[in-house]
Amino acid sequence: MKTNKENKKEYMKNYNKKNKDKLKIERDKPENKEKIKEYNKVRYQNNKEKIKKRVREYNFNNKEKIRETKIKYRKKHKDRIQKKHKEYYQNNKEKIKNISREWVENNRIKVFNNYGNFCCWCGESNINCLTVDHINGNGRKHNKEIGGGNKIYRWLIKNNFPEEFQTLCYNCNCGLKRKGFTKEYIKSRIFI
Ligand SMILES: [Zn+2]
Repeated sequence: MKTNKENKKEYMKNYNKKNKDKLKIERDKPENKEKIKEYNKVRYQNNKEKIKKRVREYNFNNKEKIRETKIKYRKKHKDRIQKKHKEYYQNNKEKIKNISREWVENNRIKVFNNYGNFCCWCGESNINCLTVDHINGNGRKHNKEIGGGNKIYRWLIKNNFPEEFQTLCYNCNCGLKRKGFTKEYIKSRIFI
């Protein structure tokens, strides 16, 4: 047996389904839009915890569905989203640059804490001079594959710091690309 509440819920559901278009027209009227907004605001304030819990549960149980909906939405509104992002970037250039600089710096710190905070050829320890070297070569190809620039730091963290990398300073790393520039040569040039 269904309770009164359940009956009412089902009746409303059917009614809403049957009158979908009519209700949408009503909803979209400017005078109603404001009313609905106000009503939802009050309803949310009065049932905050309950609503939050329900949303959390729904999100947890519908992860795949939500992911697909997001992909579909992004595809459908690609231009609009791109325009919005561009506008946001233009209006917040400095802020974004600072955040991304800080993000790269934090990733660099994590990477050098793992591979060593100094060049393993000459011992240079100024973090601004340090970079990661692909021990087996093919660094250019790999960098290109992962998108170049500072993406290598994020990639190393994500891949749990693979073994075939080492810390070198920019000088040693650039010298490495030239013939005759070896670890022994560097060592012979250091007077400590
Ligand atoms: Zn060095």
